[in-house]
Order: sequence, then C-alpha cells, then structure tokens
Amino acid sequence: MFDDGTTSREIEGWLCETDGARLKELWRLADDTRRRHVGDEIHLRGIIEFSNHCRRNCAYCGLCASNSGLQRYRMTAAEIVEAAKKGAAQGAKTIVLQSGEDTYYDAQRMCGIIRRIKSECDVAVTLSIGERPALEYRAMRDAGADRFLLKHETTNRRLFQKLHPDDDFEERIACLEELKSLGYQTGSGNIVGLPGQTIEDLADDILLFRELDVDMVGIGPFIAHSRTPLAGYSDGSSELALRVIALTRILLKDVHIPATTALATSDPGGRYKALQCGANVVMPNITPVKYRARYEIYPDKAESLETPERNIARIRRMAESLNRPISTGYGHTLKHAV
Ligand code: SF4
Repeated sequence: MFDDGTTSREIEGWLCETDGARLKELWRLADDTRRRHVGDEIHLRGIIEFSNHCRRNCAYCGLCASNSGLQRYRMTAAEIVEAAKKGAAQGAKTIVLQSGEDTYYDAQRMCGIIRRIKSECDVAVTLSIGERPALEYRAMRDAGADRFLLKHETTNRRLFQKLHPDDDFEERIACLEELKSLGYQTGSGNIVGLPGQTIEDLADDILLFRELDVDMVGIGPFIAHSRTPLAGYSDGSSELALRVIALTRILLKDVHIPATTALATSDPGGRYKALQCGANVVMPNITPVKYRARYEIYPDKAESLETPERNIARIRRMAESLNRPISTGYGHTLKHAV
C-alpha cells in the first residue's frame, strides 16, 4: 500500500479519504508501524518556555513582535536550570528549551544554561529557539545540546512567504541542513489547516519530512489567535492533523512524533488519539506556572495552568490506559548511533 515510491497524489487520496473502513485501516497501519519501528515506549520531553520575546512576525503566532498586547518575560538562567531539575526529577529524560527568536539569549548565555543542565541533570537537551548563525549552532552543540527543533511549517513557498514576512523558506531549510551537519538530531514539522493551505501542500510537507530525513516531526492543527493577522480564520481540523501524523509515521517509520499540545488544545482527546495513530512522544509543559499564560502562541492552550507534577502524572495515567510504558531512556534518534 505504501513504499518509497508513494506519490503526492496517493497521500492526497488518504488525506481526503471518506470511506470509514479504509480510514480504520490507515489508523491500524500507522499504529502497527509505530510499534514495529519505535516500540511501545512513550518518551517524556519536558518543555520549558523560557522567553516569549520574539523578533519575528509569523502571521499565525501570538508571540509575534507586533503583538503589543502581550506581557513579555524572560526566565533567568537559575530559573531555567531549576525547572529542568524539577522536570528531570519527575522522569523527563529530555529537556526542551523553547523560546521566541530572542537574541538576548546569545550563544554565550545559551551555552552556560545548556552546560549547567547537562551537568546537573541526567537528560538530553533539545533546543527550539529558531534561526541562528551557524557559529552559534556550533557553540551550543559543543556545549552539549543534543537536538534541535525547527519546523518548516509549510512547504508551499508562496504561503510560507505570506505567513513569514521577515523570513525565507530556503534559509530555514539551510538552517536544518546546517544543524544536521553539526550532528544535532533534528526535527521539523508543520501546521495543519493554515488559511490558504491545500491538501496538496500537506502531502508535500510529508514528502519533505522524508526528503530532509529528520529525526523528529511535530504536527499540530492551526489555531487562530485574535491578536495576529490570522484572527478570525477557522481553526484547522484535528482529524486532518491525525491523518498527517498517521501518514508521516507510515512513510518515515522510525522518527519520533509527539502528540502535540496543539492537538490536545483542539481536541481534548487529541493526544490520546495521536498516540494510537503513530505518535510516541509527549511533551509536558514544565515551565513555572506563573509564566505559562504569557507563552500564548495560540489561545486557550491545553494544560496551561497545570503544574508539571499534575501534567506528568496525567500523562503517566494516559500511558497506563494504553498499556504502554513511559521510557526511562533518553529517547535519542533511532536512525543512527548517538
Ligand atoms: S512562530 Fe516562533 S519565530 Fe514566529 S513569531 Fe512565533 S515565536 Fe516568533
């Protein structure tokens, strides 16, 4: 049904499928592929949203520089390390440091934070801090960062340019290639249901994930934010996002795929469903609660006021109900030895 020659047209067919029996077959195949290639374990990646400052103006994002109504914050290095320690104590074997594109955290600051986390906690470190010069990526890799997430969001160049007025698609892909060449385990991802996006675009996104040979893929539905240029547009479909997850699992096989917070926001059962159609990672928010509401990429984010302890306990219960273990390993890439 699927192989290395699967075409864009075939993927589009599955994204538009209306036959319930065929869809059931898709979910089953995705779950089966997940089990065979990455196993039953669910990896916990504790995410710390350490700064909501951003120099960019992505049209879908509430952190965009033009949103003057947002109260900005920056966590101190001590606060970040403390949050990482708490996350690690709760069983997170990866700490994800995420922020807007905030140049206040230059390479020197970031390297200091990465070194402290790596020396004080037994965890892998993932960065999700946007586009940086190659020299900075190198310094942070040398400081011990293991992975880097940089979503391409949409493969449609024209749509990308419209949604990212101060960015360039080719530059983003060049950053991903640079990160790979530096030995980072790299992650990309997309947003499903962006205004102006077509089914063909989504099929191309999946094929690009495969072409980039990334180690991780983050997929979530578009959720409109009232203080952005996309205010008032309809949200993306969580069911369509689940199909993109399923097809990505089937075609890429051994990548790590999170059941994203955007999915949980769009559909309270979204994470549970994602874990049954290809996902094998959950990223509990371990940012101190006092900052949470201000990291508003999109509104009404799931679990935005839940403590890390409660959040992780709930994920453990979810894993139990699926009869799947929480991993005690780092959850590194399965594509090559680390
Ligand atoms: S998506 Fe990222 S880079 Fe774009 S405005 Fe939001 S935080 Fe900044």
